[in-house]
Amino acid sequence: MEVEGLSGKCAVVTGGAGVIGSALVKALAAAGSRVAIVDLNGDLARQRASEIAQATGGAVIGVAANVLDKPSLTTAKNEIVMRLGPVDFLVNGAGGNAPKATTIAEFIEEADIAQPDRTFFGLDFEGFEKVFDLNFAGTVLPTQIFAEEMLRRGTGAILNISSMNSFRPLTRIPAYSAAKASINNFTAWLAVHFAPRNVRVNAIAPGFLCTSQNRFLLYDEATGELSDRGKRIINATPMRRFGDPEELCGPALFLLSDAARFVTGTVMPVDGGFNVYSGV
Ligand code: NAD
Repeated sequence: MEVEGLSGKCAVVTGGAGVIGSALVKALAAAGSRVAIVDLNGDLARQRASEIAQATGGAVIGVAANVLDKPSLTTAKNEIVMRLGPVDFLVNGAGGNAPKATTIAEFIEEADIAQPDRTFFGLDFEGFEKVFDLNFAGTVLPTQIFAEEMLRRGTGAILNISSMNSFRPLTRIPAYSAAKASINNFTAWLAVHFAPRNVRVNAIAPGFLCTSQNRFLLYDEATGELSDRGKRIINATPMRRFGDPEELCGPALFLLSDAARFVTGTVMPVDGGFNVYSGV
């Protein structure tokens, strides 16, 4: 993908060994950026880095770090700067939901009142906190570590990964929805704070993607037909299909690139129209 101002730059992608992170790392490397995958799973990060380096001919490295642990991020930053040079772009990609922060029931019916384990009342608060921290603190802390030098140099761009549920919460996942809403607010706040130093902050809000991890939820394994949840998603998506992780790359690269040099503080939905569809 030909995009202005990505070639020769150095990008850090947290959660870069994951499904979306890997797609973004590959696109950045193919556009000529040097890329560091920063991931809790160091072995997978190094494996993905070598696969992507081989496929694109780019400079890609894998570094282990925990986005919730500042000392580990500082160690990762020092290694990255030594091996790839000063960091121009940060993609905050580490995030996700967890079963302990997910209700079984979508709505509380009268019968559910006696069964708190199915509802909001049975949620394990530690699970709630973990999901909130991974998504919110896991964006704030890497930004503190990687953005300071961008401000000193007066150049850089940050891309946060929000979600469709940041605008209108999806049923069953209150912690994840609230955490992604906080990412949108933080993106706006930070964009203002950093603007005088020419460091831009934007986000993408992916809609429903079909990946190897959630295919079993979207399709009936035996028949290959859409599951009930899959059908409801497709019916709520005007483009009538799931997205593909690769389809996030154009918007992501645009927001990081010089083509978006006057764009800051935005959250761009990449969702086949899900967010703007009223259902009627
Ligand atoms: P994924 O689970 O495939 O990848 C997440 C990566 O983050 C993994 O490699 C994991 O090892 C890493 N990670 C987890 N905890 C970490 C930590 N503490 N420190 C460092 N790395 C850590 O997830 P994905 O589907 O690629 O999602 C990436 C981002 O996109 C997340 O923020 C997610 O919330 C968001 N998102 C995903 C979808 C979707 O449909 N997959 C939709 C909207 C938004």
